[in-house]
Amino acid sequence: MHENAGESPPGARKSLPDFDSATLVGEESEPGGLAELPARLARLGMARKRTEQMGKYLLLNVAQQPDSGRFALIKNPGPEASEQDLAHFAGGRLLTCSTWLKFRHYETVEKVRLHDANFCYQPKLCPVCALRRSARNLGAYLDALELVQGEWLDAMREDPDLPPLLYYMVTLTVRNGPDLGERMGHLRRAVKRMTDRRRQALSGNGWGCTEWRKIFGAVGSYEVTNRGKGWHPHMHMLVVASDEIDRFMLKREWEKATGDSFIVDVQEIDASDEEKLVGAFVEVLKYSMKFQDLSMADNWRAHLQLRGMRMVVSIGCLYGVKEPPELRDEDTCKGLPYEELFYKYLPETGAYTLIREEKITMLDRAKVRSETRRKGERNLIRRQHSHEEIVQAASALATALAQDPPADEATFAQLVAPAAEDPA
Ligand SMILES: [Zn+2]
Repeated sequence: MHENAGESPPGARKSLPDFDSATLVGEESEPGGLAELPARLARLGMARKRTEQMGKYLLLNVAQQPDSGRFALIKNPGPEASEQDLAHFAGGRLLTCSTWLKFRHYETVEKVRLHDANFCYQPKLCPVCALRRSARNLGAYLDALELVQGEWLDAMREDPDLPPLLYYMVTLTVRNGPDLGERMGHLRRAVKRMTDRRRQALSGNGWGCTEWRKIFGAVGSYEVTNRGKGWHPHMHMLVVASDEIDRFMLKREWEKATGDSFIVDVQEIDASDEEKLVGAFVEVLKYSMKFQDLSMADNWRAHLQLRGMRMVVSIGCLYGVKEPPELRDEDTCKGLPYEELFYKYLPETGAYTLIREEKITMLDRAKVRSETRRKGERNLIRRQHSHEEIVQAASALATALAQDPPADEATFAQLVAPAAEDPA
């Protein structure tokens, strides 16, 4: 283990962004128009700063790479890789994460969408990717909730005895401890015990009466903090219930399931206040890592110990909601003309700067489409040739390249053109 583990490099904590709920609301699936873009860029820039610091920390302190300013990337390390190799790989990816962002501004409907970026997809280490992952998850779960609410209302119309749905924010905790892996395993086992009991209670075999049987659907996420008193994994859960949940009973059940912890917080949410309900979803799907509460060394330890672990849990009617694999915005304005805005992250200023803007009209779009089609046709022609023909053509091309300036794709296509069409 590295000597520095346990303490954060000087000055790191000061510049950490404060990831509050408002940050995520702004990144949600309907992120607004041009007026909101500066705030959005500032938010992403702040997150990117920590990504940069974390990348450098991993490369210099853990992987112990010389600070040449240009870090070589290593290929995906296998299961036997050393911690140094893992840090080298993760750090390199962090430094090349979200160095540019491409937005599309759809003027006719006044919407801005994050169309593309180079993400590292390491949400347990990278606040930018964590922010985007949470925003996409939030969108997916809000859509699912809307469906569930609609169906329940339909059912209520048919059966007047059916009560309205109730909503709760539930926080389940276990005692702090020095070993994150052990504490996390303990929490996960306790949550599983509760969901198993719920299933048994609902199966109607008379076994296992639990407050959790009242859960119609729920989504929860594991969160990890360490404020210097040991690891504190816990779970925030949004519960959609078909009956009132008894806090006292739930507390007793949780104590039984964990054996040592009984801190359960249950807050009812006023469902008529939609903002509050969305706020509760935000709270639940925020981040699995409280970056601002974790030193870089702790963040790295947590990343290693929670690798591959799913941090979002869903049950009942919210089970099976697909987490969008993409971190970009969902583009709901496809087909409309747009202006492309290209931003680059400048480490010196710690902010994103506009590098290029380009108006893309309908005509341009048609051009791009026909260009892509032509390219596709060319590829098709190429595929119809045997391997030998391609190799031959490639060596001919290499010879040609050695003499002439670089040939383009069209030249290559010509070189592999069908023999029958060849006049010779
Ligand atoms: Zn990233």
